[in-house]
Amino acid sequence: MRIAVAGFSHESNSFSSQPTTLADFGVHPADQLIAHYQDTFSEIAGYIAGAQEHNFELVPLFSAGATPAGPLTRQAYEELTGRLLTGLQAAGPLDGVLLALHGAMVAEHFPHADAETVRRLRAHFGPAFPIVVTHDYHANVPPSLVEDATALIIYKTNPHIDQRERGLQAAGIIARTVRGEVRPVSALVKPELLFNIYHHNTSRPPMQPLMQAAIALEQQPGILACSIAAGYQYADVPYMGPSIVVVADGDQALAQREAERLGELMWARREELKTAVPGPAAAVQLAMGSEQFPVTLLDFGDNIGGGSTGDSTFLLAEFLRQGAQGWVVTLWDPEAAQQCNRAGIGAQVALQVGAKTDNLHGPTLSVYGRVRTLHDGTYEERERRHGGGRHFNQGLTAVVEIGGEGRKGLLVLNSQRAAPMSIHQLTCVGIQPQHQRILVAKGAVAPRAAYEPVSARLIEVDTPGATAIGRTPAEYKLARKTLYEWQ
Ligand SMILES: [Zn+2]
Repeated sequence: MRIAVAGFSHESNSFSSQPTTLADFGVHPADQLIAHYQDTFSEIAGYIAGAQEHNFELVPLFSAGATPAGPLTRQAYEELTGRLLTGLQAAGPLDGVLLALHGAMVAEHFPHADAETVRRLRAHFGPAFPIVVTHDYHANVPPSLVEDATALIIYKTNPHIDQRERGLQAAGIIARTVRGEVRPVSALVKPELLFNIYHHNTSRPPMQPLMQAAIALEQQPGILACSIAAGYQYADVPYMGPSIVVVADGDQALAQREAERLGELMWARREELKTAVPGPAAAVQLAMGSEQFPVTLLDFGDNIGGGSTGDSTFLLAEFLRQGAQGWVVTLWDPEAAQQCNRAGIGAQVALQVGAKTDNLHGPTLSVYGRVRTLHDGTYEERERRHGGGRHFNQGLTAVVEIGGEGRKGLLVLNSQRAAPMSIHQLTCVGIQPQHQRILVAKGAVAPRAAYEPVSARLIEVDTPGATAIGRTPAEYKLARKTLYEWQ
């Protein structure tokens, strides 16, 4: 049995000012795919483990992924899907394909780009060929993808720490399908809700009990998989919103019935989906008044993993205004990092930092300080953290000490956008989080896996930006205006 494996992943933010181009993608070609992923916690690592466990030959194609930002250019999407189809055609006889797609990829000419990718594969291989797809929990699943895929499996955790298990599950389903042991049939239900990112944490209600119901259903006879995607509210696409996908063994009515049952459970919790989150001034005040440190502020509006720029200054401005001490803020600012590099360690520098990408992320700020460290920006994460990655690179990075008396603030200026998925983003530049008072993690739920172990407390902050918690329906062109929150 020969199963091809590929990954093509991007979470595309319709409100970002930065389109995602071919140059933004990191590509791991066929001959590097296994070495790159096998020691990670990603779904491709799960596919690799699944090949061993279910005794099939894995045919690596390639993987392509980019840090979330705006929709893909036509050229980026066509080039990478073209590469995928060419690779499949050149792979020789295949019994199936395992495909790791995000589920919230938008291309400038396809709002549901992942569905288009699966449509092209289905058109090429015909109706009976097994194509098993894995998606991120933030997928916006359209009906056509569920129709075209043999089975769809979605992460069950946020922060995402179960990707490897989902990859393994997908590998098991495809192997059993090829052997004729199971016949996957799927149902999709989309409750008419906007499941706000604030409520995406799978460890607390309202999502926690819903996910427990999905996990329980998966144990039932006749059910091969049960997934809940919370959706991704920053992609303005027709099927933006949560999805429930049940895959049963040959029994379409069972899949449909159970998907509808879970859909009703979700709908019944709609009143809980309201948000009341402090803004920057109140959150900084709360953090400063805390009895235990460090406190981590989750900067929702500048959620790098959700496609924001990583250079928002709203929280930094509040630290300076309120005279906070012992804070750590990471900003994507290659220009300022270079200036520190030229000045050298120990030098006093006057910098203009942050908010250089667009006008959504606050004012560029003037700061004075001393260059404390310089670093090449590479770090490694060996623990199970959101996204399952291991090797990271934030580019040339400078740490600047800000402030006179008392505990200094530390400004981390990096050259490549890097979402705060690993605490080693800070430790690699010599910052000991436990000795600081207030940390800023530019994200919503994902940073929790890395920051909860080192924080006395986390505070969610309603900051403006490309990933602001609340958006009005008027800002959307394609999303369904019938969603409950907008009525
Ligand atoms: Zn996600």
